[in-house]
Amino acid sequence: MLLDINGNYITIGLLIFFYTMEQVLSTPFKFNKRPLHLFHNSLFFGAVFIATYIFSMFQVYSIDWFNRHGIGLLYLVNIPFWVKLVLGVALFDMTTYCFHRITHKIPFLLRLHRVHHSDTTVDSTTYFRIHPLEVIVFGTANIIGAAIFGLDLMAMALYFFILIPFAILEHTNLLLPRLVDTTLGWIFVTPNMHKVHHAQDQHYTDSNFADIFILWDRLFGTYKYLPVNKIKFGLKEFDEDKKQTFLYQMKSPFINIKRITANELANIEQKPESVIR
Ligand SMILES: [Zn+2]
Ligand SMILES: [Zn+2]
Repeated sequence: MLLDINGNYITIGLLIFFYTMEQVLSTPFKFNKRPLHLFHNSLFFGAVFIATYIFSMFQVYSIDWFNRHGIGLLYLVNIPFWVKLVLGVALFDMTTYCFHRITHKIPFLLRLHRVHHSDTTVDSTTYFRIHPLEVIVFGTANIIGAAIFGLDLMAMALYFFILIPFAILEHTNLLLPRLVDTTLGWIFVTPNMHKVHHAQDQHYTDSNFADIFILWDRLFGTYKYLPVNKIKFGLKEFDEDKKQTFLYQMKSPFINIKRITANELANIEQKPESVIR
């Protein structure tokens, strides 16, 4: 994810830029306790940074080994360098899309992944709110993608160079015009589309899995649309403030917490929200 120090500077710069934009533009999704939210998500950023730093050594070593041995489908065809590069970005994104769907299906992986979904106040810092062990899951997705399709390290570097700005933007609290969805949104994931994936209602949580190309969701039938102002973020079972802390979230994959289904959610008394999220 963050392969070198320059990439880290860019990532932090993007985070500061989008976080500031959220404040300056008076986003429609302002919420209380924002400094506390920033504090906890910053701890996640640190944990994810360390996990990525460690796992990326194995990731780079493995992919380099596959490349040196000519392993993967693209080694069977003779195509121009730039085509392989563009295909590489698309195929890394498709592999991550597949793994993301798998994390929603396998109980232990979902326990790790629900850390990302449990954020009740999604903003630009939410992309980094993932359990550090989940770095292994999605890092493995990159390794498997490289082994199957024959993707190289250059394609992976370009993939992350595109992915990180996309992923931070997708979580920002900026209300973007519907026109963005109806044009760019045929191919790319827009912020409005990724927000649907963060809805409490599981019908919508199990949709819009893609990171860069929404095309995968459209092709594989997992695309759904819901206006952002109708979305309630997070997971009902993590609504309490004490369950939103870094420490609780780090422990949460090892705690048995029952998922509140869409039906149960509908039956729970809908009290008026004190803040618009
Ligand atoms: Zn998810
Ligand atoms: Zn997300």
